[in-house]
Amino acid sequence: MPLSELEAETADHDFETALRTRGLDLPPLAIDTLQLNITKLCNQACRHCHVDASPARTEAMSPQAVDACLRILETHPQIGTLDITGGAPELHAQFEELVIRARALGRKVMVRHNLTVQFDGHPLNGRSMGHLPGWFAAQGVEVVSSLPYYQPYFTNAQRGKGVFEKSVEALRQLNAVGYGQADSGLIINLVYNPAGPYLPAAQTVLETDFRRELGKLGLRFNGLFTITNMPIHRFRLHLEKSGQYAAYMDKLLAAFNPAAAAGVMCRNLISVSHDGRLYDCDFNQMLELPAAVGDMTVFDFDYERLMQRRIVFASHCFGCTAGGGSSCGGATA
Ligand code: SF4
Ligand code: SF4
Repeated sequence: MPLSELEAETADHDFETALRTRGLDLPPLAIDTLQLNITKLCNQACRHCHVDASPARTEAMSPQAVDACLRILETHPQIGTLDITGGAPELHAQFEELVIRARALGRKVMVRHNLTVQFDGHPLNGRSMGHLPGWFAAQGVEVVSSLPYYQPYFTNAQRGKGVFEKSVEALRQLNAVGYGQADSGLIINLVYNPAGPYLPAAQTVLETDFRRELGKLGLRFNGLFTITNMPIHRFRLHLEKSGQYAAYMDKLLAAFNPAAAAGVMCRNLISVSHDGRLYDCDFNQMLELPAAVGDMTVFDFDYERLMQRRIVFASHCFGCTAGGGSSCGGATA
């Protein structure tokens, strides 16, 4: 498709216009979560990965930037949650130190854990990651794990051969150390995203289905987050190659939900890239659309200035506002 045609499509899908015509304004409300993308290295290379993570990626947060992020937590008690993602964040050399220090500061720590890393181990140095379930439990981290579907076929088609079987076994090991058990205080939430260019079903309905089907395998979890596939990077390429990009954007636009828009996650978090730069969310980070605060990084983090910024919206934001809404914590409406 010629570039001019793509640009014309994008103009039809202008998010700021959609907000204006509905009389919506979405300023930041708070920064209660600091989300760090500490590495693009991953043991997997999933088709829908918006980070383009893989075993070949080398980006990793420096020790200086890790220190700066911990200083931000120390000096901003209002930021109650550290959300650590990647890639597979456990593969970063300072992952465990980061978790321990954030927990020592009294923060809730969430880890985006892809389950299979427990078995695949470190793709570069071969280090076993089998200790993770017990280690997570000892640290009291909240685990958030993608599991595309409760049937092997769909999960393996989206993430790779054998991923379902490994994920089930990894979940079993997390359950064995207390995750998903009533009264253990150890939380594991699963994340579902559709296998193609359509919106996820209602979160509550899917959660019931997942609980029933995974229950048959003896598996437990606390909640299910549904996430809409964002029309960026690998997924956008796939849509364009298969001639479905415009239709998918139209679908997202048609499902625009003002209540979901009011709850977009960028209003409550700041996303940090491996090189310490600040973004409104993980998606903007991957698109290299920095937060509109000049060149501010974790080294000169200024909470008040960040609260004054305009969030940078673009056409991919329709992915967050369609239907029940979509965020790192699932539906927003
Ligand atoms: S496991 Fe997650 S980070 Fe790794 S490639 Fe798949 S989607 Fe990307
Ligand atoms: S993509 Fe990011 S900036 Fe856009 S609405 Fe979603 S969270 Fe906000």
